Amino acid sequence: MWPYHPELLDVPVPRYTSYPTAADFGALPANALPAAIEGADGDVSLYLHIPFCDKICYYCGCNTGAAGRKQRVASYLAALHTEIATVARLLPDSARINRIAFGGGSPNAIAPEEFTALVEALHRGFRLSEAEWSIETDPRSMTAEWGRAIGEAGITRASMGVQTFAKHCQKAIGREQDDALIGQSMDWLREAGVTSLNFDLMYGLPFQSADDLADSLDHARVLGADRIAVFGYAHVPHMVPRQNMIDASELPGRDARFAMAAQAYDFLTASGYDAVGFDHFALPGDPLARAMRSGKLHRNFQGFTDDSSPVLIGLGATAISGFPHLIAQNEKNNGRYRMMASQGLLTSSVGIRRNADDQLRGGVINDLLCRAETELSPCLKARHGAAFAPFVERGLAVLDGLRLRITPEGLPYARVMASIFDSYRAQTAHRFSSAI
Ligand code: SF4
Repeated sequence: MWPYHPELLDVPVPRYTSYPTAADFGALPANALPAAIEGADGDVSLYLHIPFCDKICYYCGCNTGAAGRKQRVASYLAALHTEIATVARLLPDSARINRIAFGGGSPNAIAPEEFTALVEALHRGFRLSEAEWSIETDPRSMTAEWGRAIGEAGITRASMGVQTFAKHCQKAIGREQDDALIGQSMDWLREAGVTSLNFDLMYGLPFQSADDLADSLDHARVLGADRIAVFGYAHVPHMVPRQNMIDASELPGRDARFAMAAQAYDFLTASGYDAVGFDHFALPGDPLARAMRSGKLHRNFQGFTDDSSPVLIGLGATAISGFPHLIAQNEKNNGRYRMMASQGLLTSSVGIRRNADDQLRGGVINDLLCRAETELSPCLKARHGAAFAPFVERGLAVLDGLRLRITPEGLPYARVMASIFDSYRAQTAHRFSSAI
């Protein structure tokens, strides 16, 4: 069981899927992203954002809308096709597409033939012979036709939004789904050739008890998920208005949330899963667990990954592109995105240029979250070493010369420790949820 020090968790911190984080983005000139794509070289990954879902869950903080408005979906996809062609034209031949990920929203909220058309457009635009494909899915929207489309696309990795198997919690978060639906979706994905299947689960949900979480974790294990991500529900209705559907008084408190995170860690590691970072778990043979063991785990906008590409190009509204020297986010408003992308323009107008200090600090944060250790520069140690005293005193970290290591007991405090190196944190702390 992890040691509990609530005084160290009493600080809102980002998830650090990038550094600097999206909260620190500012205006970017229109030519910043095209120039970065034209200069890309070596391994490149693509992410396509499908901002539609058949049903909108109350807790969801994603940019997504109802898929029922067919004309809106069709015009979004037409703009996405144009953006694929625009990026393909800009990207040099020396770039090698390493990964292609479909996320959302729920990519399987569009029609399977619309998805197949996107896959064909990607093949027309890029050389994809060595690319590995992945997709996020909603079991409520899965069909046999979708399973076939995924198989024909050659997708080998999939993630399924499950969140909880407890019916009363499902009702409270506006996401009701039968166990049979999840089992059937798994069968379709396995038959399609998916060899790495992730379940997203959540703790800290309304009315959720330790028994509810234990049941969901065991369900995921028995069904044979290769990976399980266990995220804490972040209740921030001032930023995500749809969360007002959830009554804050029904949520487990901070002590219970910590106990649930620890419970998930204890159960899954005792059940044969390797802990990957602080909230992901993978069977030892899964590529994510192998990447962690070999020190090749990374973090990108989708969380922990074994994708080592230094460049990620995001396509679609709100999608974020990352380069060593630049982070750029596409237009968030779907209407404006459609208007600009359909004219052959790249839509990003916000982001941040990563200067040398950002890259140094980003490397340290990435090391701490992915490997639980890092080598500090003398300058970073001089500026921040003293801030680790409360963690070192409690046995949560070891600072030995320039080497900083998070102990196994310190894992739930990893994001708080990483945030010590975040030079933007003081200005934007109000925009994040609690560290656990
Ligand atoms: S299915 Fe996923 S993306 Fe869609 S509303 Fe629910 S949580 Fe959000």
